[in-house]
Amino acid sequence: MADRSKIVELHKEMTDWRRDLHAHPETAFEEHRTSDFIAGKLEEFGIEVVRGLAGTGLVGVLKSNGRSGKAIGLRADMDALHIDEQTNLPYSSKTPGKMHACGHDGHVTMLLGAAKYLSKTRDFDGTAYFIFQPAEENEGGAKVMVEEGLFEKFQMDSVYGMHNWPGMPIGQIGTRPGPVMAAFDIFEIKITGKGSHAAMPHQSIDAVVIACMVVSSLQTVASRVVDTRDPVVVSVTQIHAGDTWNVIPEEAVIRGTVRTFNAKVQDLSEETIRKIAKGVCAAHGAECDIRYERRYPPTINTEQETVNTAKVAEKLVGAENVRKDMRVCMGSEDFAYMLQKRPGSYIWLGAGDCGGNLHNPNYDFNDEILPLGASYWAELVEDLLPESVN
Ligand SMILES: [Zn+2]
Ligand SMILES: [Zn+2]
Repeated sequence: MADRSKIVELHKEMTDWRRDLHAHPETAFEEHRTSDFIAGKLEEFGIEVVRGLAGTGLVGVLKSNGRSGKAIGLRADMDALHIDEQTNLPYSSKTPGKMHACGHDGHVTMLLGAAKYLSKTRDFDGTAYFIFQPAEENEGGAKVMVEEGLFEKFQMDSVYGMHNWPGMPIGQIGTRPGPVMAAFDIFEIKITGKGSHAAMPHQSIDAVVIACMVVSSLQTVASRVVDTRDPVVVSVTQIHAGDTWNVIPEEAVIRGTVRTFNAKVQDLSEETIRKIAKGVCAAHGAECDIRYERRYPPTINTEQETVNTAKVAEKLVGAENVRKDMRVCMGSEDFAYMLQKRPGSYIWLGAGDCGGNLHNPNYDFNDEILPLGASYWAELVEDLLPESVN
């Protein structure tokens, strides 16, 4: 069992790291300072560092003294978001328009804390890979790392991920086997009508009115097309059209996202969105251009590895605080790409009150959970790579 007190001793130091990272947020594939920060710490702990995967991504390699050929990967994401921070904290973002509003600053810190502890204790037999991944938000840094040979360069048997979870009490850990996070697709519908004077609408093909009809009709994908027993989300998140009061614009653009858990529902959703957009536009004489992109696959935990993580979680917080039947989340995770290549499991770590939910400008990672997160990683390594008893 990992010596929790030694990890608790790192709490102040971890808090300082976390706040430093928080003050210096960097977005997708531009995490240069963050990457240097991590590499510097790992080197200081005597851990081998391999840099340059997916640009700013890096992997720390810690081998035990034993001979076991076993190896596991622990992954933390390190990017921030395009949000203007509103916390007014002393360590709030120094970069206008960028902010750690998803707690990846905390994820990096917890993994570094575990790395520091494990580099000193080495009470395991095998290899622990500390994977620091860029561009989790939107851009799929995990995919790029996988494509650039993450699992060929570093032979690991299984891989693990974690996310802090605001609103879930501190001291609770949640997981489930099978699907945990949804697939993430995006779509863009460009409607081209005919512009006119706003006072003479009969001379137009009104892209605004047509766009509104498309948005309304898209609500039927979830409510009337996909089997109600299958989870699906279709959210329109942008509508752009027009510049002034008295002109009916020529063009309207609708953008949004689709979340699903299986290929059948994903195919049906895409097909229906295309059909609705084309059909509504055709009915009113407008042109319609549709772009549909599949971004992240669903995140799917494998059975045995989830049993393992739940066991580790129980050791740390007691069986009564491990929620093994967490409901699926319609959010998405590019850790999914790693789980496509290796068995593994993703957990949610209760973060209590964070001032706001994930991606909110008032959110701040809860430093109280740093030792628990680091302990989880350390315990996972000691548990899955046990020292042989002679
Ligand atoms: Zn996020
Ligand atoms: Zn996140």
